[in-house]
Parts: sequence; structure tokens; C-alpha cells
Amino acid sequence: MAEFRERVALVTGASRGIGRAIAIELASRGAFVIVNYAQNEAGAREVLASIEASQGKGEIRHFDVADTSLVQNEVERIGEQFGRLHILVNNAGITRDGLLVRMKEEDWDAVLSIDLKGVFNCTKAAARIMMKQRYGRIINISSIIGEMGNMGQVNYSAAKAGIIGLTKSVAKELGSRGITVNAVSPGFIETDMTRNLPENMKNKYIEGIPLGRFGTPEDVATLVAFLASDGASYITGEVIRVNGGLYT
Ligand code: NAP
Repeated sequence: MAEFRERVALVTGASRGIGRAIAIELASRGAFVIVNYAQNEAGAREVLASIEASQGKGEIRHFDVADTSLVQNEVERIGEQFGRLHILVNNAGITRDGLLVRMKEEDWDAVLSIDLKGVFNCTKAAARIMMKQRYGRIINISSIIGEMGNMGQVNYSAAKAGIIGLTKSVAKELGSRGITVNAVSPGFIETDMTRNLPENMKNKYIEGIPLGRFGTPEDVATLVAFLASDGASYITGEVIRVNGGLYT
């Protein structure tokens, strides 16, 4: 499928989990995919190898999405190298869970810096290129926790709810330039982030999911690919859930 032929996509946090699946999905549809990572170089290399094994194209880029000037430089370099950037997927994210009364300031700051400021940093830098080319698709990965809240995740739910507000505002600012901005809100997805949930808690969550299972990274990736496609050109400022019916 060459739906995204000649399109350049940047996927943050693409060395594993959901970002990995998104990078592979976009590349399988013909995009040149820039696979960003923070620490896991081996993971990023594996993702690129997977893309290339299926005749896809891409490269890896190491940067911390929370570092404003670094992001600006890296995205500028992408603009200079390719002359364009069509798709940005703001996927990088972490959790630092703890109950409010015990949560350390550094855990609040780390999650807000990566999960929310990271989206601001990458979106601002990419918007400069997208506005010039009068085309862009920005897809931000929020979370069901940003919509529902969750015990022990005040930092994460605040960041993910913040992404929803940011998405709606940026959609209004950039719509006239041919740029759509949407959020995807996954439920519980099988990745490193959810791997360490205690088995009894996992089973309890599954009982509440009408489709009876955790989602896969690919369940999220196909939705992201749709939002990046021409078929989604009249959708902007939306939050689209992919949660097996857990929260509607
Ligand atoms: P994951 O398996 O823990 O992977 C996180 C990814 O983010 C990794 O590639 C990691 O890179 C990258 N990352 C972390 N900090 C970064 C930074 N400062 N700069 C750049 N990249 C950074 O997580 P996941 O489950 O795939 O989650 C992906 C996104 O989906 C996150 O935004 C998460 O909040 C959201 N989400 C996940 C679920 C779920 O159930 N899993 C549900 C809803 C939403 P390294 O490998 O280099 O560390």
C-alpha cells in the first residue's frame, strides 16, 4: 500500500509499544518514518530494521521531547533534510504513579514535562514547517486516564487531559493552513506501561471492558494511520477513543 508515498512522518517514542506499532504501520503504507527514542537505541534500531525488512523507509533520531531547544533544533534539521514534514505523532510518554499525598514534586514535573510539554515542543516546531507547506496531520496520544481520572495517576491524568485541551486549541489555530490536529485516547493497551500491573488488577479491568481484552498497539496504530490519511481530511479537534468500550 503506498497511500503515504512521499510523505515524511515523525513518531515520538517509537522504540517500543504503541509508537513502535504506529511507525511500522505508517511505513507499511509508504511513509518515510523518523523513529524517535529517548534511551532505548536497540529498540529504535529494531523498529527501523522491521520497517526495512518490509521494504519500508525511515531513520532513527535520538532526542528528549521535553528538551525545548533540542526539539526545535532536531525538527529544524528534519525540515532542512527533507524539505517537508507531513505527519507528526506525539506518542512519547511516561508514568510515575503515586497517590497525591505521597507524590513527589519531581514525579509531577517529569510526567508533565515529557507527556504534555513534549507535545507542545514537538507540535510548535513541526507547525512551522507544516504551515509553510500548508499541509499537516498532527495526532496526539492522550489516554482514557485523561478523560476518567485514576487513583495514583494525578500527574498522568492531568498531562493527558492537557493534551486534549491543547489538541482542540491547536486545531483551531492551524485549520486554515490545511493542518488537522486530533487526539487518540487509548484504553488499556498491552505494552511495557501496563505489563507490570498486578494480575488481579488486570483481571478487574478486563471485567469492565465490553470487548473482554486489553488492546494491542496495532489497535491504536490503525486508528492513527486513518487520522493521518486523506480519508480523514475533514476531521480536526477530535478525541477518538480506542478502548474496547471501557469508557464511552
Ligand atoms: P512504552 O511502551 O512505555 O513506550 C514509551 C515510549 O516513549 C518509548 O519509546 C520511550 O523511549 C518513549 N519516551 C519516553 N520518554 C521519552 C522522552 N523524554 N523523549 C522521547 N521519547 C520518550 O509506552 P506505551 O504504552 O507504548 O505508550 C505510548 C503512549 O501511549 C504514551 O503517551 C502513553 O501515555 C499512551 N498510552 C498508553 C496506554 C497503555 O495502556 N499502554 C494507554 C493510553 C495511552 P525509550 O524506549 O527510548 O525509553
